[in-house]
Amino acid sequence: MKKLQQLYEGKAKKVFETDDPDLLIVAYKDDATAFNGQKKGQIADKGVVNNIMSNIIFKIIEDAGVPTHLVRQISDRETLVKRVRILPLEVIIRNVAAGSFSKRYGVEEGSGLARTVLEFSYKNDDLGDPLINDDHILALELSTEEELALVKEYAFKVNEVMKKFFLERGLKLIDFKIEFGIHKGELILADEISPDTCRLWDCETNEKMDKDRFRRDLGNVEETYQAVLARVRG
Ligand code: UDP
Repeated sequence: MKKLQQLYEGKAKKVFETDDPDLLIVAYKDDATAFNGQKKGQIADKGVVNNIMSNIIFKIIEDAGVPTHLVRQISDRETLVKRVRILPLEVIIRNVAAGSFSKRYGVEEGSGLARTVLEFSYKNDDLGDPLINDDHILALELSTEEELALVKEYAFKVNEVMKKFFLERGLKLIDFKIEFGIHKGELILADEISPDTCRLWDCETNEKMDKDRFRRDLGNVEETYQAVLARVRG
């Protein structure tokens, strides 16, 4: 597989074309941003952790029946993926109150919820990724009704698979964000699943083992990313 010209550079990844028009190479960077790009930094070897971890989790999700963009890992930082048209939605699942949910609704972080919450943000940096509902999504034609129904079904399935996977490794899955895309007419899971996109708390100590260590200046950022990868590798 030949790596051709760079197609795009995002906050955490670069994307390259390949000699196959249906496949792209994603290259994970160590750059970290938070609060819609207002806070910037570097986390040494984050790109390696996120690439390897994301691929391990995408593989178990795929095995559980949710199609993903994963083709194969190429190197520590690079993965071959299916090219998609990304839906401009951040799909967020919450098992426990934290982050913006706690802030918005005035509930303490760590509070239990009477049910699993699925919410959407409209992926639009200029607008600050605003919260959006089903009617808004359909009115703005960000997805079709069929896609929206399947996105929800897949998101809950991903949650069940990941909750179990992390629990077996001593981590509570508090919440996470995923993204979907369309590849050859099929809805598939895309982007990444990593400590950048999940909240993971140690089952015994409740220690935060995710990007909140960077967002909130909690220290031991690099060490925590490595520790999560070690647990994920089992
Ligand atoms: N998240 C993400 N990218 C975003 C916003 C959120 O990956 O642009 C993840 C975040 O890491 C957390 C979950 O989605 O696991 C819920 O985030 P929340 O809405 O609480 O936002 P935050 O408090 O991170 O601003």
